Amino acid sequence: MKASLIDGQAIAAALREDLARRVSHHVAARNRKPGLAVVLVGEDPASQVYVAAKAKQTVEIGMRSIEHRLVTETTEAELLALIDRLNRDETVDGILVQFPLPRQINPDHVIDAIAPSKDVDGLHPINVGRLASGGMGFVPCTPRGSLKLIKGVRRDLSGLHAVVVGRSNLVGKPIAQLLLAENCTVTIAHSRTRDLAGTCRQADILVAAVGRPKLIGAAHVRPGAIVIDVGINRITDGETGKSRLVGDVDFDAVKDIASAITPVPRGVGPMTIACLLENTLESYERRLGNASRFDVATDWLRNSGNIQP
Ligand code: NDP
Repeated sequence: MKASLIDGQAIAAALREDLARRVSHHVAARNRKPGLAVVLVGEDPASQVYVAAKAKQTVEIGMRSIEHRLVTETTEAELLALIDRLNRDETVDGILVQFPLPRQINPDHVIDAIAPSKDVDGLHPINVGRLASGGMGFVPCTPRGSLKLIKGVRRDLSGLHAVVVGRSNLVGKPIAQLLLAENCTVTIAHSRTRDLAGTCRQADILVAAVGRPKLIGAAHVRPGAIVIDVGINRITDGETGKSRLVGDVDFDAVKDIASAITPVPRGVGPMTIACLLENTLESYERRLGNASRFDVATDWLRNSGNIQP
């Protein structure tokens, strides 16, 4: 294997350690833990696993986890009333409503109801707008984690050509915005892109966020590219008959061509929860008045390398 492996598991663990140190410092000084409220509606098995993992890691770094598990029949009005209570609760710094929601609840109404200052998932239109316009809001967790992995390989991304495959509001578009803010030249590819392989081959940084197992193969990767595989797809292994997770990138086909690559699992996945915790801690710090909006903004830009210390 020529490409270096980007170990998202280890990088996420280091980030959580750093967050835990910051949390313990705050708790000692102020006797209030940062609080993350997670709302799960219904019985979706994957969502239950995610919510349990989020709660566990929240508590592990010393923050308070507030879980609300609602029955599948919950009405939109009931969910919006809960969100309203959480918006007003001074001990809650971040609110995350786990998707997908049951059919009777409109996800847009839910996203709009969360206070932008507690929207640690970064999906509220105010935060989406701030990301697009270069202002400071919350950045969605998977894109934020993906950028950290890229910058762990190469700090200065200025002038590089980044190709993002996928244009979802949750992943593709915000990753493209972040890379643009890093002064990359950004191309967004999607299902209507004419020459996907040729477009991807232009990339110094190739991000796959599609949801199609092994869509990206050797023909899509330019020698030396950094490849970030956001995809999480469950497939049945033809040889063993067992189910396993694969990404959108054919890892074995690409590992000798790329300069660095994330595996699936243990790549982008672990960064998502770590960045959720980071967003929650930043919300707490803003709310304490410990860091003004501007301070948080400049800290973030400094960490991202866009301004000099
Ligand atoms: P969406 O289904 O919302 O978006 C998929 C995107 O891929 C769309 O823009 C679609 O194009 C594009 N696409 C689909 N087929 C093709 C194709 N053949 N060629 C080019 N583009 C294509 O998915 P998400 O963005 O929510 O998620 C993407 C993947 O990332 C999934 O595997 C998901 O499980 C994973 N994921 C992982 C996370 C993590 O923590 N690691 C977190 C969130 C998601 P179009 O718009 O034209 O339809």
